[in-house]
Amino acid sequence: METHGSINFSVLGGGGEVGANCFQLSFNGHRILLDCGTHPKKDGLDCLPAFDLLSRPPDAYFISHGHVDHCGAIPYLCKQFPNTRGFATIPSTRIVDRMLHNSAVVMEMLAKERGIADYPLYDHYDVGYAMRFLEGRPFGEPFSFCDTLDARAEFIHAGHVLGSASILLHLPGHTILYTGDISRTRQYLMGGCKKFPKKLHVDTLITESTLGATDNDGNGSYHAEVEQFAAAIRRVLHRGGSALVPSFALGRTQEIANIVAHLQETGELPFTPIYTVGLGRAVYEIYDRFTEYLHPSATLRPLSRFERLGNVWDPSVVQNLLRTPSVIIATSGMMTENTPSAMLAQTMVKSSHHGIFFVGYLDPDTLGYRLLHAAPGDKLQFELGAPAVTVALEDIAQYRFSAHASRSDLAAIIERIRPKNIIYVHGDEDALAWMAANTGNGAETFVPAIGQTITIET
Ligand SMILES: [Zn+2]
Ligand SMILES: [Zn+2]
Repeated sequence: METHGSINFSVLGGGGEVGANCFQLSFNGHRILLDCGTHPKKDGLDCLPAFDLLSRPPDAYFISHGHVDHCGAIPYLCKQFPNTRGFATIPSTRIVDRMLHNSAVVMEMLAKERGIADYPLYDHYDVGYAMRFLEGRPFGEPFSFCDTLDARAEFIHAGHVLGSASILLHLPGHTILYTGDISRTRQYLMGGCKKFPKKLHVDTLITESTLGATDNDGNGSYHAEVEQFAAAIRRVLHRGGSALVPSFALGRTQEIANIVAHLQETGELPFTPIYTVGLGRAVYEIYDRFTEYLHPSATLRPLSRFERLGNVWDPSVVQNLLRTPSVIIATSGMMTENTPSAMLAQTMVKSSHHGIFFVGYLDPDTLGYRLLHAAPGDKLQFELGAPAVTVALEDIAQYRFSAHASRSDLAAIIERIRPKNIIYVHGDEDALAWMAANTGNGAETFVPAIGQTITIET
């Protein structure tokens, strides 16, 4: 063991927000990073974590899962600090690779479409280079990650999306648990997170706080939500319309596709085509390769069960598609302008027989949020550079299929682990405030902002 002292925890992103998650731990001359994401709502260099706070290369970085707010900045980090070793679970290494190549394509497109000067922040070559240093490690097997450090890391199932992990770090004289994005309850495909053993000793817990401001504990169960979701789609299909379900490519697309297929197979929905889009299908193939990480009783249909959505930037493709009833699962989940879900909605909102059903969190700054709250007759812009469209469609709703722990679940995790220190991250202001005020069990608690450093005595 090295000499004990203190650990400095610095927030490069994801403090006081759900943003470009990246946290630095420095101790005894060593530095490691937890996650390395990009901010989903910012563009150009602004979407990166505050890398200027990194004075020296990290010894290693760890990735909790493949959502870009946790991994999107890896190639940029690796350009700054070549040869930096990274670690993720084995399925996550595959997913991260796909997500980053997609980010390179999207940034190049945005550079052309919107003239964002800093884009692309990296290209396919940079992704390929970074991925050579991202090593996969199995769940539940502690591993050493630095030759000059007597420390071990371990990935623990987090139940959020395929490959998602909490990260347990046994540092000299101090144990840290970073939850990453975590879910305690079962989704259709994912089981909940692994139950933390009661004897697990954690000095410092770094916990996500996404749903800290959401009082969902009295809400209906997952099954009740599925029933309402099914009833909404049924209503649309019976009147000859199509149902659009905007979904993230990683996690939500695979979950919703299998839920809809299941509802068709049990007769709760009529058999119609179910469409999915490119990145969601690419990630689906990785789910298919790693079914051992899904809930044992989950049935992952073959990808061929789902149709591939065509080029929805071509108006004739959209017109043809909407001629017959179908269920369309399309990115992006929050309906960012110019994405497939926005391009489809642009046509669908003009008639009243379709339906648009959101299945995840909507940030108030997004088109998805504006559409959900639009009244018939309101005008919204779906495609940059195109005129705004008058919304005639009324059947627009939101269903809750969360992949994040509820705040009472987070409180229960904290209660079980009983850490000495708790650092709350990955939540908006209200969520973090609720968590800090209502959980903790007498632990020392911190809600650090970006740029802030906390010193923890070991
Ligand atoms: Zn996530
Ligand atoms: Zn996240």
